[in-house]
Amino acid sequence: MIDPCDIVILGAGPAGANASLSAARAGARVTLLDEQTQPGGQIWRAKSAAIIKAQPTPESDAGNTLRDCLANSAVTFVGDVRVWQIERTGDIWQVYTVADGQPGKIEAKALILATGAREYVQPIPGWTTPGVIGLAGATALLKHDMTPPGVATVVAGTGPLVFFTASEIRRLGGHVAAIVTPNTRRDWLSVMPAMLSRPDLVRRGLAWIANLTLARVPVLWGHAITRVEGARAVNGVVATKLDASGAPKGKKREIAADSVCLGNGLIPAVEAAQLAGADLRYHPELGGWVPGAMTDGSTKIKGLYICGDGAGIRGAAAAEIQGKLAGMVAANQLGFDLAPDFEALKSAHARAARFGLAMTALSLQKPGDQALTTPETILCRCESLSLARITAEIAKGAESINAIKSGTRAGMGACGGKFCHTAVARMMAASQGVDPADIPPPTARPPLRPVPASVFAEGFDYDDLPISKPAPL
Ligand SMILES: Cc1cc2nc3c(=O)[nH]c(=O)nc-3n(C[C@H](O)[C@H](O)[C@H](O)COP(=O)(O)OP(=O)(O)OC[C@H]3O[C@@H](n4cnc5c(N)ncnc54)[C@H](O)[C@@H]3O)c2cc1C
Repeated sequence: MIDPCDIVILGAGPAGANASLSAARAGARVTLLDEQTQPGGQIWRAKSAAIIKAQPTPESDAGNTLRDCLANSAVTFVGDVRVWQIERTGDIWQVYTVADGQPGKIEAKALILATGAREYVQPIPGWTTPGVIGLAGATALLKHDMTPPGVATVVAGTGPLVFFTASEIRRLGGHVAAIVTPNTRRDWLSVMPAMLSRPDLVRRGLAWIANLTLARVPVLWGHAITRVEGARAVNGVVATKLDASGAPKGKKREIAADSVCLGNGLIPAVEAAQLAGADLRYHPELGGWVPGAMTDGSTKIKGLYICGDGAGIRGAAAAEIQGKLAGMVAANQLGFDLAPDFEALKSAHARAARFGLAMTALSLQKPGDQALTTPETILCRCESLSLARITAEIAKGAESINAIKSGTRAGMGACGGKFCHTAVARMMAASQGVDPADIPPPTARPPLRPVPASVFAEGFDYDDLPISKPAPL
């Protein structure tokens, strides 16, 4: 059992780490948990301990500053720990953990969830071929291990992450065979007014594009990968021009490559919020299903706060500010003073969110993009289920993700549905002609993360097993 505290925070990214600092500054006893060994979350991920020296980047500098602040604060950080269950008894939250195969539990008066996002990869033919990795996932490899994904990589997907990932691959000595993005230049122009709220980030993005152009990296605007070639390893991709609806209709291009980074935006990681009892609402502009949470992270549930990308994809700058606000308000609810900059931070959050929401808009689903997923395409990687198998289940009468899950095992593998449920929901909505808002996510069930079976048997004693008396003859 980890020592009880006033506030337990799940997730040590920009949101959770800043929540912990502001709550501790107010005087609360705070414990911050993360499955990564060091704080920083996705954007400020720490380098592997095996890397002794590396050129600093804006992300590594921000991460190091955050880690220094935490090390010099009263926050108790527990890394390398997975949270798999959340319960509440009266006013006390119980958070169940597993670390190094050992079960643990922490109790607190308030719970702040800052679980971030995960990426959406739209299934396309060949996307499960070894050598294909997620676009956001690639940033983890580049930041933690400083290793390009292959020798020649096609970087494909929506939003700014394609240009960041391609630039980082080149900076680390890799070769980018091409950038393939469904976004058009017009899409980017349409979000430019909102982007101007962060001129520093606009300048950084333009520098990536300028460097890639100077290096003659081909950029295929308004295109998507329609097939990854190669049976046991990637040996190339086919990219096809998209029409205005997002459907592949135009000229095809073959590109040789041994690796592919592929992603179609981010989705809030809401399962922990569901387990904590939060209601979800569908907001495509925030990445999909999001728990109800105010700007300061407070929810309708006493003692529960949700902040950062897990409350809607508004980007790292907004996550950082919302985290600070959530830490302040959670501490204040426990009787500690509210920091004087609380109201000013709320306005700063609105400005930061404006930029983040513009980036999220670049990954909004288009009506024609479902055509990229062909009937034989695998939708559920863990259970090897194709779109045709899912469609057959729908034809048999399955009307919800829960029904698809019971009928086909989609989402019952190692990822627990974190990878396939969004794709299944989008296919269901498209095939039935209904709004994605009508296809809620499956009922959240523990464990949130895979745990060894011994964790569930913890404390179990065979002598405690009730044995019924023999029935009287
Ligand atoms: C894979 C990935 C890579 C990204 N890379 C970039 C990038 O390079 N640049 C950029 O601008 N944006 C990037 N983003 C978006 C970026 O995550 C956010 O805008 C920002 O980091 C959000 O901060 P956050 O604190 O809300 O969440 P995060 O930074 O995602 O932090 C959430 C933390 O919660 C932890 N966590 C979640 N659930 C559990 C659990 N059950 N048990 C233990 N720990 C848990 C995670 O390990 C993580 O450290 C990326 C997103 C993803 C999914």
